[in-house]
Amino acid sequence: MFGFLKRLFGFADNKQTGSTQTGSSSTSEPKLSLSPSDSEKRGDQIHAEYVIVGAGPAAVCAAETLRKNDAEGTILMLAAEDAPPYSRMAIPYVLTGLISEEGTYLRGDDDSLGKKAISVHHAKAIALDPNSKSLSFEGGGGCSYNKLLIATGASPIKPPVEGLDLPGVHHCWTLADARAIADKAGEGAEIILMGAGFIGCIILEALVSRGAKLTVVEAEDTMVPRMMNTVAGNMIKLWCQNKGITINTSTRVTGVSQGTGQLDVAMDNGTSKSVDLVVVATGVKPNIAFLDGVGIDMDEGILVNDMLETSISDVFAAGDCAQGPDFATNGNSVHAIQPTATDHGHFAALNMVGNKASYQGSLNMNVLDTVGLISTSFGQWQGVEGGENVELIDVDNFRYTYLTFDGDCLVGALTLGRSNNVGVMRGLIQSRIKLGGWKDKLLEDPNRLAEAYIACRQ
Ligand SMILES: Cc1cc2nc3c(=O)[nH]c(=O)nc-3n(C[C@H](O)[C@H](O)[C@H](O)COP(=O)(O)OP(=O)(O)OC[C@H]3O[C@@H](n4cnc5c(N)ncnc54)[C@H](O)[C@@H]3O)c2cc1C
Repeated sequence: MFGFLKRLFGFADNKQTGSTQTGSSSTSEPKLSLSPSDSEKRGDQIHAEYVIVGAGPAAVCAAETLRKNDAEGTILMLAAEDAPPYSRMAIPYVLTGLISEEGTYLRGDDDSLGKKAISVHHAKAIALDPNSKSLSFEGGGGCSYNKLLIATGASPIKPPVEGLDLPGVHHCWTLADARAIADKAGEGAEIILMGAGFIGCIILEALVSRGAKLTVVEAEDTMVPRMMNTVAGNMIKLWCQNKGITINTSTRVTGVSQGTGQLDVAMDNGTSKSVDLVVVATGVKPNIAFLDGVGIDMDEGILVNDMLETSISDVFAAGDCAQGPDFATNGNSVHAIQPTATDHGHFAALNMVGNKASYQGSLNMNVLDTVGLISTSFGQWQGVEGGENVELIDVDNFRYTYLTFDGDCLVGALTLGRSNNVGVMRGLIQSRIKLGGWKDKLLEDPNRLAEAYIACRQ
């Protein structure tokens, strides 16, 4: 059990009833209006001026921004998992052994949020009542708020395939998943990884580094299909194959069954394989089911405006659960990446304290290291109607550049095997710089991006 749980207020160390971590008891610091021990005794609710549902990057960034802008207001973060606030994107480094679990914690030592008088309460919110401005917790109890931020993130999707509940089948989403994977994924272990998307490829790297024998099964005809076009996706596939990884694209796992000591995995290409571990990375969905029937506007995620406000007053949303302003499309998207989560958290908090802070929207942007091959994607790399594009392919050296234009603006880009010009691409896209005559020069030679940037910035 983590050190901070020893400092519980009156609550039992029990996820059913929840547990709270707060800062020092100095009387000058903001306090929740009911101490949890009082609350427990009276079956009453905790009240905080600001309640944040979630304890991931969006939540932590929001809590700290709230504190910076409001020294007095009580801040309560709700954490469904039995761990201090942590970053999922650090999990692969736990698997490679680069860091320990503690290295994933968002604010190093257990005390740092407490020192800012930010309380972390271990409880899962299961219902929202916007009329009484309150939340109910799984197992009983609840809290009320003046301003609420929903930052519940996303959860991995389990496709409808028989046997995915068997022991030895895991997602790679939580610290608990990482422990289970580390237990099985030793040197020489046979592993099937279902899904070669962004998360799948990140995990792939970690599993290979542990010396596992890896087979990747991807339903689409290329790798990272939502981040790369077919040319680049197939170059990544070839790169992985050259590293000794078996990659089955256009293939689906049809069932997993318990064999003798191993799991038998059947595929729709007619083959089957006995493995020690199956890792499922077949996409994620925002954690918004607990809001069904509340009357909050939702689509893929919780819809928010440029102030991160939802359709219910005093309720904001941020991070992977939010469908926020998209810089590139001017619509709303769920980008499900950490920079978007922290941006959301920051802007939501500014608006929760009453500042009018408008968020310009997130840029769809991914940087991926697939066993040493770096790929990047920015903005509208799929291209826009009536737009133009240019491609530079060097298969032998695993280098690729693909640029898309809308009029004379760069609106999207893909790269493989190169890290130069990545900042320039982002700058050109985010600043919507008009390239004028430089667009034709780039269509002739995409390598001249830096020159174009310098010329057009002046
Ligand atoms: C293995 C892996 C690698 C990744 N690598 C990258 C990367 O390289 N780059 C990148 O940008 N992104 C990466 N990501 C994605 C990134 O981790 C997420 O985009 C980011 O965590 C989103 O932050 P969030 O705060 O919105 O949600 P989360 O981090 O998911 O946090 C949500 C929090 O809410 C809690 N919660 C959920 N429901 C409730 C409830 N009902 N009540 C109370 N608490 C609740 C959860 O327990 C959690 O604490 C990776 C993810 C994984 C799994």
